[in-house]
Amino acid sequence: MALRVEQDIFVIRQRGREVAAVVGLEHQDQVRIATALSEVARDLLRTTGGADVSFHVDAGADGRFHLRADLAPVSPLPDGRYQPQSGAVSRLVDTLSASTVEGVTVVRMSRRVPANAPTPTPERLAEFRTELGRTAPASALDELTVQNGQLIAALDEVRSQRDELAVLNEELAETNRGVLALYNQLTEELEETNRGVVALYAELDEKSAQLRAASESKSRFLANVSHELRAPVTAIIGLGRLLTDSASDPLTDEQGRQIDLIRSSAADLLNLVNELLDLAKAESGRIEPELAEVDLRPVFGQLRGTLRALATRPGVELVVEELSGPALLRTDEVLLGQVLRNLLHNGLKFTERGEVRLRASQHGDRWQFEVSDTGPGIAPELHDRIFEEFYQIPGATRVGGTGLGLPYARRLVTLLGGTLELASAPGEGSTFTVSLPTGGA
Ligand code: ADP
Repeated sequence: MALRVEQDIFVIRQRGREVAAVVGLEHQDQVRIATALSEVARDLLRTTGGADVSFHVDAGADGRFHLRADLAPVSPLPDGRYQPQSGAVSRLVDTLSASTVEGVTVVRMSRRVPANAPTPTPERLAEFRTELGRTAPASALDELTVQNGQLIAALDEVRSQRDELAVLNEELAETNRGVLALYNQLTEELEETNRGVVALYAELDEKSAQLRAASESKSRFLANVSHELRAPVTAIIGLGRLLTDSASDPLTDEQGRQIDLIRSSAADLLNLVNELLDLAKAESGRIEPELAEVDLRPVFGQLRGTLRALATRPGVELVVEELSGPALLRTDEVLLGQVLRNLLHNGLKFTERGEVRLRASQHGDRWQFEVSDTGPGIAPELHDRIFEEFYQIPGATRVGGTGLGLPYARRLVTLLGGTLELASAPGEGSTFTVSLPTGGA
């Protein structure tokens, strides 16, 4: 086909569309390649004064067919190059470029034929040619009408795409609203839970304040009662001593025995009252440890001396181990002495054969005091209970006492910044271990 005058552009456009249709390009692609052809034709008419246009079907390297249009300019392209007026043109086809074929530069464009189109055999191509020959090229007006129709169709499509987009947008907005609602609901639930937790904490605080108050009033009560009891009980003991004094009127044997009973009961009572008072003081925080640098050697020496009097069983030996070299520790000497004496006294009370031993050793920044005995031992399930007030293990090992010694000892050790632990099993003796920080509480 010859492109020489303005009118020819319409014919080339129309023919291009028809060729595209017979080789099997889809409708959209027919319009695209026709549009690209008319754009390039317009460019060439202006820059080179015209071109010869031909259509070809190539078998591509990908095994598919390609419709190709060659536009050979009638005079050389400026600089031998082709640049479409509108950049969008090259997007209408698969390839668009100027190629030099046998010394002649042609503008070439191509578009791939869909795989499902009938194979363009030579016979079919011949058929195409006859078919095209039958239709006369339409007038510019006809082509304009067709072009208008295509434009309207394209506009329609754009509008329907815009509508689809609007629907999609609406759906998206809907989803967003859903997500937002869910988020709000979750936030609300979270706040609700938080409020619950806060309320729970407030209740816990209140309960622990009540417990603290109850425990304080118990300690106060114990302290008051034991304090009030101490004077009359001491008086009973004193009076008993007076009655049995050799300077007093003589008593019958029976009276003497009864007075002795009164005195020993009163002594037990005084002991209980004193221990209660101690514990109440420790619990109410009225005992303030007086920390000082303590050398353990004299402390141990004193324990050896005072406890010897209590180690009265012939088959039981009390061993307070010697400390090698200076053994210094920052603590309250009086309270530490009370704790160790208490533990050793228990050992002597409950051990019938063997020994009760105190040993001290330093481990890093702590001192460890082990009080071990070869006594009856304590079942593991009672290890916590014996530190409860007034608890005494029932049975044969019960030998006086109040059940207040161990809870008091643990209190004191805690005040000194340490721990009091027990390792024991029935038949294997007991070891109470006090661990204190060397540097003080
Ligand atoms: P107390 O010695 O006045 O009874 P404690 O609080 O010191 O009170 O001890 C509580 C109980 O723990 C004792 O009654 C005894 O049953 C048990 N217990 C304490 N020390 C030993 C020990 N070394 N061996 C066996 N049992 C012990």
